[in-house]
Amino acid sequence: MSGKPGRLHVIVGCMSSGKTGELIRLLSRHRVIGDEIVIFKHAVDTRDGDKARSRLGTEMSAHVVSEPTEVAVEGRCVVAVEEAQFFGEGIVQRIQEILRDGCEVYVTGLNQDFRGEPFGVMPTLMSLADELSLLTAICQKCHGVATRTQRIIDGKPAPWDSPTVLVGGSDYYEARCPACHEVTGRPGSS
Ligand SMILES: [Zn+2]
Repeated sequence: MSGKPGRLHVIVGCMSSGKTGELIRLLSRHRVIGDEIVIFKHAVDTRDGDKARSRLGTEMSAHVVSEPTEVAVEGRCVVAVEEAQFFGEGIVQRIQEILRDGCEVYVTGLNQDFRGEPFGVMPTLMSLADELSLLTAICQKCHGVATRTQRIIDGKPAPWDSPTVLVGGSDYYEARCPACHEVTGRPGSS
């Protein structure tokens, strides 16, 4: 590849903050000028199959992978990784390799887990970013500014000690502001 340095743009925010819509908007600018684009999403994210689909109705095809080593560029110069929080530490090194090849890399993910704590590799990726978009949503309870992701299991706020990533459970998620965000059994609280 050329000597052009790579560039990392990280798009983070809570549930329903429009991360995929923003990703597709950013990538469509590359499509206009004929850049080859490839999107990867983690197999844990079973929504929408092999598509990255936004609530705006926009979509792009994506490769479903489970390991960072499967994030393969193959000559394309624009690479996107959706829901990067589902990958382990290996994704950081893989993204740095792709950046050294001079690629433009876009990453989306949840910056906080359901507890409101930093989520996996996302803080590291945010600190490596050349550009950072921090998106917000609207709180589904009070309609304030939502920055948190509320996990609900069987109609109740999830306990602190439930797994960070739940696969195939009866859980669902909604956007909440910090005041409406609830976690039961937080250490140090009654
Ligand atoms: Zn609220």
